[in-house]
Amino acid sequence: MEFKQSEVNKLMYVTNRPELIFTEGSGMWMTDHTGKRYLDYLQGWAVNALGHSPQCMVDALTAQAKKLINPSPAFYNAPSIELADLLTENSVFDRVFFANSGAEANEGAIKLARKWGKKNPDSEGQDRFEIITFDHSFHGRTIATMSASGKPGWDTMFAPQVPGFKKAELNDLTSVERLITKKTVAVMLEPVQGEGGVIPATREFMQGLRRLTKQANLLLIVDEVQTGFGRTGELFAYQLSDIEPDIMTLGKGIGGGVPLAALLAREEIACFEAGEQGGTYNGNPLMTAVGAAVLKELLKPGFLQSVKDQGQYLSSELIKLSDKHGFEGERGEGLLRALKLGKDIGPQIVEAARDLNPIGLLINSPRPNLLRFMPSLNVSKDEIDQMLSMLSDVLKKIGH
Ligand SMILES: *Cc1c(COP(=O)(O)O)cnc(C)c1O
Repeated sequence: MEFKQSEVNKLMYVTNRPELIFTEGSGMWMTDHTGKRYLDYLQGWAVNALGHSPQCMVDALTAQAKKLINPSPAFYNAPSIELADLLTENSVFDRVFFANSGAEANEGAIKLARKWGKKNPDSEGQDRFEIITFDHSFHGRTIATMSASGKPGWDTMFAPQVPGFKKAELNDLTSVERLITKKTVAVMLEPVQGEGGVIPATREFMQGLRRLTKQANLLLIVDEVQTGFGRTGELFAYQLSDIEPDIMTLGKGIGGGVPLAALLAREEIACFEAGEQGGTYNGNPLMTAVGAAVLKELLKPGFLQSVKDQGQYLSSELIKLSDKHGFEGERGEGLLRALKLGKDIGPQIVEAARDLNPIGLLINSPRPNLLRFMPSLNVSKDEIDQMLSMLSDVLKKIGH
């Protein structure tokens, strides 16, 4: 099959894509329209928690599709109740609202915090609505979540922004303290900044934030769209720092590849009234049945330990590779890791890795001086070794 982007493509332009059509996926592997295979360290952008088309997802989709796809969000359905039970049993939260994307879950978190800020006003009885977020954070692509994000350039791209988001510096508690006003209602952050370049918030910072927000009667919101669902080796990344947040959002891994996201809150925070939050597809049984199937795999004995072990292994091998090539080391948590290149060769590596023959390698460079690794959580040691050897080939090829 011949494929030319300009001829076939009526899709709206939003980004540059290689002239490839991907046709099949299985585990850590994907195949394009020419039959070429790729070792996939993107996994749908840290989405395919169990790799491409795992049996448990295929089974859950097939069985649920035959039973009931869409009863309407005005009615209860069994898979959404089951998944909400599983999520609350395995976290510090009591209530779940399902959404279809990370951005939508974060919109829900922002709405819930503002609602809570009306019920818990400042000393003069005025609504509290300001949310402190962080430089280089990423919370989604709706107007409100873009406004919450600290991505350079996003403040002017679709101006005017939604007001009420002030940006602090990650791992700098005084930068947060400085921004607190009478109007502040919450602090919102990613436990590991993903799109910003895999930058973990330190345990001390997370614990400091929890203390500070409690003292000031503010909500602590963790955006675990990328870090949740086992990515860091804990089921949720807030567990790495032994804190109890008030609100959490999930996306990406929760659906294992299908559109599913969630907003979770503790009982006393979950204060929406009838009609204030909803959505046509929210909590539909087809997606929530998949979410439950994925979560049951993650909860199997030894699964999260194996994420930790493989993360450790990947980390130590990346350090060896870094030493050998004079790079600047690596960082991350669990199976969300970045190699610090020290020079802006990331995009060149990404392209050369994809063009390797006969087998290509798919990796990501969130910043030009970084490579990001987000394999499936059940990646094997062999698939890590194979990736490292392919990466060495690429570095040789481009002269590093
Ligand atoms: C990907 C991501 C989002 C946005 O999720 P979508 O499903 O693309 O809307 C939000 N927050 C974080 C931390 C993310 O990594």
